[in-house]
Amino acid sequence: MTAAPPKIPRASPANPASSGLRFAALVLGALAVIIGTLVFFFNPATHGFYPVCQFHRLTGLNCPGCGMTRALYALLHGDLPTALRDNALLVLALPALLARGLWLAAKKSRGHPAADFFPGRTLWVLLIIALVFTLLRNLPAFAFLSPA
Ligand SMILES: [Zn+2]
Repeated sequence: MTAAPPKIPRASPANPASSGLRFAALVLGALAVIIGTLVFFFNPATHGFYPVCQFHRLTGLNCPGCGMTRALYALLHGDLPTALRDNALLVLALPALLARGLWLAAKKSRGHPAADFFPGRTLWVLLIIALVFTLLRNLPAFAFLSPA
């Protein structure tokens, strides 16, 4: 008679969705730090290696992202008025996105199931806001929304 092999407790299998989200959050966080550091040290107004907006180059119109890098540079240097002038959408959206990300991370850490970053109609609302912002910043009456 042979003795049964000792039972080795198995590590609880990691939830693949959870580890995938954690990895994505880590990659996005690292990317944000790298881009923030790059933009902080190299002023987009004086360094030409930043990508040029192809929509603006082709049409002469401002897309919702035009001026975003300069706005980020201004924000990182504490110049809120310049950041708002270069891209008000970014300046207003960043705190909301950051708060949403932190809230979701806190919720997840308390054991709640992962939720969509943009639930249901939120993505449509954000898309409409971006379209209205794009339309307005290309009208002469709202030239203050266009990057300098
Ligand atoms: Zn653009």
